[in-house]
Amino acid sequence: MTMHSPLGYQVPAETARVASAAFPKGNLYMDLHAELGMLYTNQQFAHLFSTTGQPAEDPARLALVLVFQFLEGLSDRQAADSVRSRIDWKYALALELTDPGFDASVLCEFKGRLISGSAENLLLDTLLLQLQQRGLLKARGKQRTDSTHILAAVRSLNRLELLIETVRYALNQLADVAPAWLQPLIQPAWLERYAHRAENYRLPKAQTARDALATAVGADGFALLEAAFAEHTPAVVRAEPAVEVLRQVWVQQFYGPDDPPRLRPTNDAPPAGLLIASPYDVEARFSIKRGTEWTGYKAHITETCDEQTPNLIVNVLTTAATVQDDTVLSAIHAALEQKQLLPAEHLVDSGYTNVTNLQQSTQRYQVDVVGPVATDPSWQARTKTGFDHTQFSIDWEQQVVTCPAGKRSVSWLPLNDGRANAAHLVRFARADCAACESREQCTQSTRTGRQLTLDTKERYLLLAQARQRQQSEGFKALYALRSGVESMISQAVRACELRRTRYSGQARTHLQHIVTVVAINLIRLVAWLSPSSGPRRVSAFSRLAAIG
Ligand code: SF4
Repeated sequence: MTMHSPLGYQVPAETARVASAAFPKGNLYMDLHAELGMLYTNQQFAHLFSTTGQPAEDPARLALVLVFQFLEGLSDRQAADSVRSRIDWKYALALELTDPGFDASVLCEFKGRLISGSAENLLLDTLLLQLQQRGLLKARGKQRTDSTHILAAVRSLNRLELLIETVRYALNQLADVAPAWLQPLIQPAWLERYAHRAENYRLPKAQTARDALATAVGADGFALLEAAFAEHTPAVVRAEPAVEVLRQVWVQQFYGPDDPPRLRPTNDAPPAGLLIASPYDVEARFSIKRGTEWTGYKAHITETCDEQTPNLIVNVLTTAATVQDDTVLSAIHAALEQKQLLPAEHLVDSGYTNVTNLQQSTQRYQVDVVGPVATDPSWQARTKTGFDHTQFSIDWEQQVVTCPAGKRSVSWLPLNDGRANAAHLVRFARADCAACESREQCTQSTRTGRQLTLDTKERYLLLAQARQRQQSEGFKALYALRSGVESMISQAVRACELRRTRYSGQARTHLQHIVTVVAINLIRLVAWLSPSSGPRRVSAFSRLAAIG
């Protein structure tokens, strides 16, 4: 007898018999198979494989193994061992008990295929589609998003360590690919500088000695680059990625091949979004947010938070660490639109709520972004006793502003200086302000009258409306739901090791995030659906509130 899964895979009779005996009270993987079957089909991944050559391992099973791997935080080798040795995995993968499994390298190769074929999102989208079809996931409900920092799989380096490690990385790679070319170039001092990893505690402490070392390393790097790009250098040297990394880091850190090389001062360095932080992961970036410093990436995770359905993660976006939260909301909405899972209300913190996002979300996606907007940063608003712009009366049609003292503005000019939220410059007469008794509450300038910068009418009113709305009790009650996103991130970090990427590069890190959120969704789904997981816990307070 065989057990039939919803997608047609059959659990072999012997596997079913032994698994049922081994796990009489249910097991996560067996529950998963009972609910979702194999989840993926080989057809979905067919475009990633050649139609000729040896038959590949079953990609639908590999995809599921990948999810199981992240569900338990296993290495590739441990996951391959589990396929070979664990009865519950064999059941969930519909394999014979005697199935020998596959070598761990197959998983690594499959991940490479998913990335090169841009198919990583398939892993999440397939699950979401099934859940939509089963009524467990609906569009136009409530969703919440937050970002969390992701540590790169590399050591954080200070500037001197970065310079030394970049040359060291290039030398090590070139020693592999072009040893005969490199050998005659090696200088006696290189062995001392680059034979071992650059560790700060072994480097000079005095700043003058550190500067001298940085200059010497700079000269080494320029010498290596000059040799690499010389006319008769073998092509394999220039094609070596570590040489390109060395070139980029040297462009970012030095002015040019001067003698001696001159380090750029930090105020003349490229923007943080471009600055390479480690030669071993050139896409990882250094960033600081609310006192947290890290080198790596950011994950923006969106989950549903409706009462009648399980909280499920519907999107994860991976960016460099330096990308600001407010620049990604549109991309999140575009991704949700593609999945037909746009929310009606989207709960986010103030990092995502600039006026452009409020405007675009409503107009383009019909999504109500629910989150506190930034407060007025002017000193008049901060002191709470000054005349901020809310105390001025604006006639948008006549382009005239009336101040709290009843004076009318004397000019209204278009502004186009690149500042955010500044479309018009409004000026009051210097004579009016000089004679005004309320001057100290209004302006600190002694040379001009009060000046106001205003956004366009539509954006100005939208922001004013949002600031007013966030004072209401209804807004506060709705926004309180956002805090639940913290527990989702905590689950991802603690149960699925989200905090640190296993891989180098943003694409591989994103794959890890996709598989992680699929794993979390499966845990949540089984907890919601499976009778064996027992009733959902209800807190004493919730019970009391329900009675009241
Ligand atoms: S300082 Fe000028 S703009 Fe401000 S209240 Fe007085 S007159 Fe009006």
